[in-house]
Amino acid sequence: MSDINPRSTDHAEYRQGVRDVCARFGSAYWQEVDSRAGYPEAFVKALTDAGWLAALIPTEYGGGGMSVTEASVILEEINRSGANSGACHAQMYIMGTLLRHGSAEQKRRYLPAIANGELRLQSFAVTEPSAGTDTTKIKTVAERRGDRYVVNGQKIWISRVQHSDLMLLLARTTPIADVKKKSDGLSVFLIDLEGAESRGLRVRPIRNMVNHETNEVFFDDFEVPAANLVGEEGKGFRYILDGMNAERILIAAECIGDGYWFIDRARKYATERIVFDRPIGENQGVQFPIARAYANVRAADLMRYEAARLYDAGEPCGAEANLAKLLAADASWESANVCLQTHGGLGFAAEYDVERKFRETRLYQVAPLSTNLILSHLGEHVLEMPRSF
Ligand SMILES: Cc1cc2nc3c(=O)[nH]c(=O)nc-3n(C[C@H](O)[C@H](O)[C@H](O)COP(=O)(O)OP(=O)(O)OC[C@H]3O[C@@H](n4cnc5c(N)ncnc54)[C@H](O)[C@@H]3O)c2cc1C
Repeated sequence: MSDINPRSTDHAEYRQGVRDVCARFGSAYWQEVDSRAGYPEAFVKALTDAGWLAALIPTEYGGGGMSVTEASVILEEINRSGANSGACHAQMYIMGTLLRHGSAEQKRRYLPAIANGELRLQSFAVTEPSAGTDTTKIKTVAERRGDRYVVNGQKIWISRVQHSDLMLLLARTTPIADVKKKSDGLSVFLIDLEGAESRGLRVRPIRNMVNHETNEVFFDDFEVPAANLVGEEGKGFRYILDGMNAERILIAAECIGDGYWFIDRARKYATERIVFDRPIGENQGVQFPIARAYANVRAADLMRYEAARLYDAGEPCGAEANLAKLLAADASWESANVCLQTHGGLGFAAEYDVERKFRETRLYQVAPLSTNLILSHLGEHVLEMPRSF
């Protein structure tokens, strides 16, 4: 069967390089990791060693110096191979905050080690149980005392903490009552996780629907050297927002990879499975939903490339980045549903991988950002309708 992605030869060298790494980690590998709720350490190490996770780090710091378009192709290929970028995508883009806002000393110290995989910066602590999506209401505080900050508070859904050396933390440094804008007074810190549990940081894993290492994190008089503040105190919320467009484009590309994977599996099974003496794909009731899901993946893919093109050209791309994430997450979810339905009972069998990928792609409707938040961005900022929150 021919390739259903007409752009699968764009950036051919990168795509092939990623495919070569992923080919070493087939179904059996992912099923084994999933069954023991393990972390795909060998897979992440192989991608790191091949340099793919350092794509966005400038070459002067030992990274790949690639564009967001090129980086998006890497994540697309990972998901299209049947793997899950969620285990490692953050290593690719969290460092963006450090790159854009960190001091020369911080960049010199950390970026080369992140690029070569010596240090993993793939934990990003923003969400809190009481604030949820309303990030400016976070209650974790970092109080300056001499040459350090003392952090107290609680985070939830903080992923990959147990497989990171460094964490990027958002905490309030000025009480919300004392700032003009509620988005002021938040700051970003680089947390060294080495031995952190003996210094007041507690990590409680959360069992969840996907095989995804995510945790509750508690800070109890946890000290952070003032030198680990990233950028200026009080401007952290803006720094986090700065990274959102790139993140949305990259996540959209993962969804596109999933979408093509599901469509591939569905069309193959629909062609091979014989019921009532003919392939089930001969029935339009089976064929048309697959064709429709494919149309939606292709359309979302165009928006992803458009958003990435604008981003790489340094042009405003907020609308397109949000549209790409929305359309791609919807298309991958539709494809997942269609693929599972096409497989009938076997869609539920772990050995077909469909149920695992189904669970994984469902997450994109909620994290890193829930669909309603994207719709509200489009409604308010693009369509200029009244603000809802
Ligand atoms: C597996 C997993 C991994 C994660 N990893 C991380 C991580 O590494 N770091 C991190 O900081 N966070 C992480 N998150 C958190 C994730 O970003 C949040 O779950 C997500 O942003 C939604 O926030 P919430 O769960 O608090 O939902 P809530 O804010 O409680 O919202 C619940 C629902 O209501 C909707 N809603 C809320 N307010 C409105 C409104 N005004 N209008 C319309 N709809 C609304 C939301 O869209 C959502 O569907 C992770 C989550 C999961 C599940």
